[in-house]
Amino acid sequence: MNMHNFNSGPSILPQPVLEEAAKAIINYNNIGLSILEIGHRTSWFEEVLHEAQQSVKDLMQLNDSYEVLFLHGGATTQFMQVPMNLLDTNATAAYCDNGIWGSKAIKEAKLFGNVNVVASSKDRNHTYINKDFTIPADAAYLHYTTNNTVEGTQWHHIPETHVPLVADMSSDIFSRPMAFDKFSLIYCGAQKNMGAAGVTMVVVKKDILGKISRTIPPIMDYREHIAAGALLNTPPVFAIYLSMLTLRWIKENGGLTVMEQKAKERAHLLYSTIESLPNFVATVAPEDRSLMNAVFVMKDPAQEKPFLDECKKLGMVGVKGHRSVGGLRVSMYNALPLSSVQAMCDLMKDFANRYN
Ligand SMILES: *Cc1c(COP(=O)(O)O)cnc(C)c1O
Repeated sequence: MNMHNFNSGPSILPQPVLEEAAKAIINYNNIGLSILEIGHRTSWFEEVLHEAQQSVKDLMQLNDSYEVLFLHGGATTQFMQVPMNLLDTNATAAYCDNGIWGSKAIKEAKLFGNVNVVASSKDRNHTYINKDFTIPADAAYLHYTTNNTVEGTQWHHIPETHVPLVADMSSDIFSRPMAFDKFSLIYCGAQKNMGAAGVTMVVVKKDILGKISRTIPPIMDYREHIAAGALLNTPPVFAIYLSMLTLRWIKENGGLTVMEQKAKERAHLLYSTIESLPNFVATVAPEDRSLMNAVFVMKDPAQEKPFLDECKKLGMVGVKGHRSVGGLRVSMYNALPLSSVQAMCDLMKDFANRYN
């Protein structure tokens, strides 16, 4: 069966990336060894690492004042590692609370210093982005989540601020061009839009490091990773390789401008179909809707199960909403073809005809 992969993460990857990776598992670049069998300090792997780092800088148009690291631990580890490196015990960091992931980041930051939640969208169940707030000039940094994977909201602009900007971009990384040089630190788990689970990317501007008094365990210290050439310990070799291939695929397919154009086409098709049918209701404020994760509900909750059953029969996976918000969610990452969204929309229309 032709599957339609709407998984929220780990999620769809480009077919050519999977084919190349499958070959490399048996015999990497015809060297007679698997990518899984080579040392991380070999020139074979260093080429992979350096291409991945350079592709990130190319796509983000960043200069050498930034470093690109590929770490273990997921974006969740960054919830702790960011304040450990950037927030002094008596200092205060500003955080935006726009959903489940941002709330988790706030909780971790409080273990290291003070947190000022400058904006929250909790009052309306995180169905919008609260953009009307002020950031104290002495904040150590402002942290926000560019795309709220679970709630289906996305920032469509970069917040104006003079304090260092830190962003969790796990679920919309490399989906659109941005002024990435406005950020001091960007992190993401790779498994949504840039590769397989097992690697976390951190892009950090070097001049924000080393400004706090805390002693940081070396493995948690970004400066130690930078000094070791991103090879402080064994990195997740295969996951980095997969990210490198995905980044190469993005570059070969028109870069971030084309990724954004395709994301807009997919999202427009899906949201306009939802709005045209009485059975489905998009819950997020229109101006804050995510181009990556569309969250919606059935007007009659009793129709949810039959709809999900029909999705399953047609090979559409990942459509059930996150357990914390319920409803339905269709994730549309870079590798998802428009034809999958079209298939979903055809089903929705057909379903609405039969269940009116
Ligand atoms: C998935 C996700 C996370 C958690 O990532 P892990 O790699 O599982 O730790 C954090 N933030 C956002 C925005 C996410 O979508």
